[in-house]
Amino acid sequence: MRLVMLGTAGGPRPVVKRAAPAQAVLYRGEVHVIDCGNGVARQMAMAGISRRDLTATYITHHHADHMLDLGALPLIAWTDGCENVIDIYGPPGTASMTEDFLSMAWPEIEARTATTGRRAFPEMLRNTDVPEARVIRDENGLRVSTVLVDHPPFEVALGYRFDSDEGSVVFSGDTRFSPSLVELARGADVLVHEAIFPEALAAQAEGSKAETLIEHLTSCHTTAADAGRAAREAGVGTLVLSHLVPGSDVVSDEMWREAAASDFDGRIVVARDLQEIGLR
Ligand SMILES: [Zn+2]
Ligand SMILES: [Zn+2]
Repeated sequence: MRLVMLGTAGGPRPVVKRAAPAQAVLYRGEVHVIDCGNGVARQMAMAGISRRDLTATYITHHHADHMLDLGALPLIAWTDGCENVIDIYGPPGTASMTEDFLSMAWPEIEARTATTGRRAFPEMLRNTDVPEARVIRDENGLRVSTVLVDHPPFEVALGYRFDSDEGSVVFSGDTRFSPSLVELARGADVLVHEAIFPEALAAQAEGSKAETLIEHLTSCHTTAADAGRAAREAGVGTLVLSHLVPGSDVVSDEMWREAAASDFDGRIVVARDLQEIGLR
């Protein structure tokens, strides 16, 4: 089982050196993509990951940085020749977003189907909305389970855990420090956790209603130090800091690492786009 970080910046605003949040789990020829930030298909191309083998996508919640390419990624995979049924998991409302995307892209889908004879695209999409914590998939040696994490104002925001005979990896999605996430991550090889750096948030808030945005960031997300605490309490082997806010160079790798290390003495990786992370 391989873990590839496709995009590592948090928030909807593009930054120069990091793409929007997305990760790939590759196992037995299947490609599983966790979150579909804007540009995820291109990041897969950059990482050398086949879109034809796209098996399933997993949306953590409905902030734009996590779902903007929810429909675009499967559509691009289809134009690449993917013929799989693609499972789309996400909080309630995800299936209707897929339907909305099909309406928006219908002229393209109809035209391309007519000119290429491809398999009907809508038939390839299989939606599963996930309203509560449970095992959502157990196929081909890979088990995927979820919990509800705490990311106001969303009622449902999901963390995901992937287990196979080659290891385990957990994705926090966006959350403030969340005991349910700690439970999900118990004993995992790798925990990919979102992180903010409160002392540097002014850079992120530039041009917005700064006070309101900073209030949201500090009350609905997790500091690198608390991501370290979650990793320690869960007893994971490796903590990967990603969905970095701010995602610019204002905060160096060393600053991120030091903050997380204040409460965790395992391996800490400050994620980079396209980086592959060994599970053990
Ligand atoms: Zn986010
Ligand atoms: Zn969010």
